[in-house]
Amino acid sequence: MTAITNHLPTAELQRLDAAHHMHPFTHGQELRDKGARVITRAKGVWLTDSEGEEILDGMAGLWCVNLGYGREELAEVAARQMRELPFYNTFFQTTHVPAIALAARLAELAPGDLNHVFFAGSGSEANDTNIRIVRQYWAEKGKPSKKVIISRQNAYHGSTMGGASLGGMSGMHAQGGLPIADITHIDQPHWWAEGGDSDPQEFGLARARQLEEKILELGEDNVAAFIAEPVQGAGGVVIAPDSYWPEIQRICDKYEILLIADEVICGFGRTGNWFGCQTLNIRPDIMTIAKGLSSGYQPIGGSILSDEVARVIEGHEFNHGYTYSGHPVACAVALENLRILDEEGIVTRVREETGPYLKEKWEGLCDHPLVGEANIIGMMGSIVLTPDKDSRAAFAAPEGTVGLICRERCFANNLVMRHVGDRMIISPSLVISRDEIDTLIERARLSLDETYDRLKADGLLQSA
Ligand SMILES: *Cc1c(COP(=O)(O)O)cnc(C)c1O
Repeated sequence: MTAITNHLPTAELQRLDAAHHMHPFTHGQELRDKGARVITRAKGVWLTDSEGEEILDGMAGLWCVNLGYGREELAEVAARQMRELPFYNTFFQTTHVPAIALAARLAELAPGDLNHVFFAGSGSEANDTNIRIVRQYWAEKGKPSKKVIISRQNAYHGSTMGGASLGGMSGMHAQGGLPIADITHIDQPHWWAEGGDSDPQEFGLARARQLEEKILELGEDNVAAFIAEPVQGAGGVVIAPDSYWPEIQRICDKYEILLIADEVICGFGRTGNWFGCQTLNIRPDIMTIAKGLSSGYQPIGGSILSDEVARVIEGHEFNHGYTYSGHPVACAVALENLRILDEEGIVTRVREETGPYLKEKWEGLCDHPLVGEANIIGMMGSIVLTPDKDSRAAFAAPEGTVGLICRERCFANNLVMRHVGDRMIISPSLVISRDEIDTLIERARLSLDETYDRLKADGLLQSA
């Protein structure tokens, strides 16, 4: 493929970018020194940069391009919708066909009695909505003291004031005075990093029981909800031990705590079912959705509420909404995305064919001297880098040093794999083929080899 030449030279684009464009989660000086990689186009699971390099996108953008890049149908639907009705709001007793159709389709796809959709522009906004919903729910039920939302350390629920407060990222809380009031965190079910000598299943139970302890400590009458990702994504693809979720469900049921499943990553096929809560047998009262809902082709998110929660919220005017709640173009594109995921059997293929294939190959990386453990569920996986597999040791170098080296080797080998501390993570498009999985694994292995050589040369193989 020839490079596109109708833009400025890469160095000039990088200079202008660093001068005027502020990037999310980026150190400004570092960006100026290194320059950002300029992505110019994409097709399937492949990105092309401004130098004409072809890069295998192991992260589906930011966990969102479930359908892969370059689907004409989505572009067509967007263009048609823009011509017909580019915008209208859903406030004040008005509606439009794309919002109606998408909400009805989501009610069909969502499990149980999750039948009511409140649209937002993103996952963060949807979680802000959820904070309002669960507090309003209990106020309407005559229990206004039930306000506290319990979340988990190292969770990710977005970057707005509400979303970042629900999240358990200490680096985010440190900036801007977070968390906001009445949000508290328990420990995460992360056995590799925090399980010590305990058996994983016992550890999972103990971590789940922290929820019960926290409810008892705060008083049942003060707790509104518990929020969690079925599988922690940005925290490093942390899959809880099997004992964890049944115990969480038992506790939420026993104390009548609303359970919010943040399905922003797990939803829309990533774990091999439409929703992560189906894979893990969780019965939420509310689900947060975004990302794969539109495969990232349009910004859209939302909350799907149970019959009971919606009935209570709809008892009075809910003083909340976004200009772009149920944006017609975003809804039309999301609906088309869901149609294709369904009609092409993509979710089933992840569950029955490409998911198991990727699992076998991914777990095969465990024979590499740097890899302590491989975790994978559907199309989201992580490997832990360690200097000593038996003791599950961390590196002596500051956390993330080795992960960053590995990520840079991946980048140099034209593979996008992200690092979270010293874990390497993947979340490819659901349409990735067996051949492309082979390429992903080859490039990952090569990058691990190069990382190992580099650590050896630099004396970084020491345990903490
Ligand atoms: C990405 C993410 C969010 C935030 O979504 P945005 O669209 O970036 O606001 C919320 N929850 C989870 C689990 C996510 O991965």
